[in-house]
Order: sequence, then C-alpha cells, then structure tokens
Amino acid sequence: MENEPLLMIPGPVPIPQRVRAAMTRQAINHRGPEFGAAYADTVRTLKTLFGTANELYIISGSGTAGMEAGVANFARDRKIVSLVNGKFGDRFAKIGARYGSVTALESEWGTPLDLDGLARELEAGAEVVTMVHNETSAGIKNPAPEVGKLARKHDALFIMDGVTSIGGDDVRMDEWGVDVAVVGSQKCLAAPAGLAAVAVSERAWDRISEKRPFYLDMAAYRKSGKSAPMETPYTPAVPLFLALHEACRMIEEEGVGARIARHHRMAAAVRAAAKGWGVDLFPKLDAYHAYSNTATAMRIPGGVTDKDLRGTVKKFGIEIAGGQDHLKGKIFRIGTMGGVGAQEILSTLAAVQFALRK
Ligand code: PLP
Repeated sequence: MENEPLLMIPGPVPIPQRVRAAMTRQAINHRGPEFGAAYADTVRTLKTLFGTANELYIISGSGTAGMEAGVANFARDRKIVSLVNGKFGDRFAKIGARYGSVTALESEWGTPLDLDGLARELEAGAEVVTMVHNETSAGIKNPAPEVGKLARKHDALFIMDGVTSIGGDDVRMDEWGVDVAVVGSQKCLAAPAGLAAVAVSERAWDRISEKRPFYLDMAAYRKSGKSAPMETPYTPAVPLFLALHEACRMIEEEGVGARIARHHRMAAAVRAAAKGWGVDLFPKLDAYHAYSNTATAMRIPGGVTDKDLRGTVKKFGIEIAGGQDHLKGKIFRIGTMGGVGAQEILSTLAAVQFALRK
C-alpha cells in the first residue's frame, strides 16, 4: 500500500486489483465477439443500476462528455431550464448555453432547488430540464422524482446527471420519468476514469435533434450498439471498457441492493462523526432534498484551516477533498463511493478527528 494514497475524495476512487488487472491485458479487436460480449454484459449491469429498461451506450470520455452528449443530441435549439445548486448544475447550464437557450434557476450552492420556478418555466414553454441528482460540490441530493413528475406533466424532456449517484444510491430512471441519465466510470462504479454511460428513453429518441455533434452522436452509438457483435462507432478506450466490465462483475457479486445499502451506511457514519465533532453539515435541506449518500460536505470549523486539515489527513496517507470555486477554504468533503467499507471510513474519520483536534 506504500505510495498508494487512500482516495476518499468524491471520485476518482480506489480501483480494486481485479479491475486494474483487466485493463493491462493485451489489446483485443474492438469489432470482435469478445469486446462485443463485454460491452453487452456491462450494459446489462448498468441498466440495473440506472433502474431502466431503456437503451444504454458507453462513451469514451468522462462524465462531462456524457452530460454534453445528452444536451447536444436532445436539447439542441430548444428552451432549456437548468436547475442549479452547485458546480455541476452550473456546468449543465453552461453546456446547455452552447446548444440551446437556457434559463438557469440558481439557488445558493447546497440549498434546495427552485421547484416553483421550474413549474413556472415549464408553464411558459420550457422543453428540456437539466438537473444534477447528486450535487457533489455541495453534498446535496436533489429531488429527481419530483422534477421528473413536473417535466412529464408539461411534456418536457428530463436530462439528469447521475454521475455520482448511479451505482451508489437508489436511482430509478424509468419510474422517475428521466429521459437521459448519465454516469461516470470513476465514481460509484469504482472503475478507472474515462468512460461515461448514457441511457436514453424512447421519448428522447423520438425527439433526437437532426443537427447532432459528430463524435458524441447518440444515433451513431445506437446504430453500432445494435450491431452483432455490439460495437461503438469509433475506436473505444478498450482497456477502460474491460476494466468497467470487471467492475460491473464485482458489483453483481456484491449485489446491487447490498452495495447501495453499504454506501448509505458509510455516508451515515460520516454524518454521525460530524455531529460528534460539532461540525456543521453544509447543505440546507427541505422536505424534498436530502444529504448525499456518496459525498458528505461539511463546514470547516473555526481554529483550523483547509490546508492544515487536509494536510494533516494526508500525512496518514488519506486524501479528502476541499471546496470548489467560492467554497474553497470553507468546506471539506469526504467521498464514500465505490468500494469504501468500514476500514476506510474508520481510518479516515480517525485522521480527520485528529486533524480537527477533537
Ligand atoms: N457531475 C457530477 C455530479 C460530478 O461530481 C462530476 C465530477 O466530479 C461531473 C459531473 C464531471 O465528471 P467528469 O469530471 O468525469 O467529467
């Protein structure tokens, strides 16, 4: 373990040995049966984690590529309403502005989304809604079922970033009325960084834009995905696909329900520790919002700086995250994604407690 820091940041997360081994194999033909079978099997597991029977394809690119694929294919030249209460909600709005016309409904980071404003925008003709399910920058879980219901009521498409919820928290794409959902490989799936999976509803396929990007053309992914063996349109990041396939096998072995329950327990342990230390959790909740089960954001208490706190924890070989943008120096975040278990949590909490001098 020497020289291998324990990453307790909100992704990337430590990669199990089996998954690492899978990506160091000799090259295989990406248009052959072995690749096709691995791709199809990965898709099968991911659909369970997304809670969907929809088609799902994997893009060689990080989570942001998946967000952009959703917007560029399904929101082009449309009226988009973007719900923002953190960095990634803001990113979705910025991506939207490149392709359509965006009304950003901004709440302070870590505070509830403006659902009344959303209803008004939908009444006024918004055609697409973007929302981040688990807003990693602020440690808040946003109300996907409520947003899905509103979007459906007004026949708008709902594009959801599930980058840090899918695989670590309960996600029900079909039940909630999500039309496009995205996950990133380096988060709760505990695979290497560099892949994004995108699931698309029938309603969204029916509305796919005529004017699509080239590399992120979801119609091209769909066409290649339906070939036998299953393929991607361009050469994929084969080693990453093989690693993600192995990560999905590990998820199946653990069991999806058990895995999500473990994520809940680990995040609850961090929240309990914060309470014990007298450290405030960052999000401000209402009845519709919840604390994240994959990234806990806490205020840095008086008497310690961000640098001291994270520097001391790092001396124990553990990395936790600070705040992003205007939250730098104000909050710290502990990720509980992927394979994190009691041992990792206990050593992390002990190190943080030591650093806080509690
Ligand atoms: N969305 C959320 C909620 C995230 O937490 C992140 C990364 O932290 C992203 C999107 C962006 O993903 P990537 O860095 O893989 O492009």
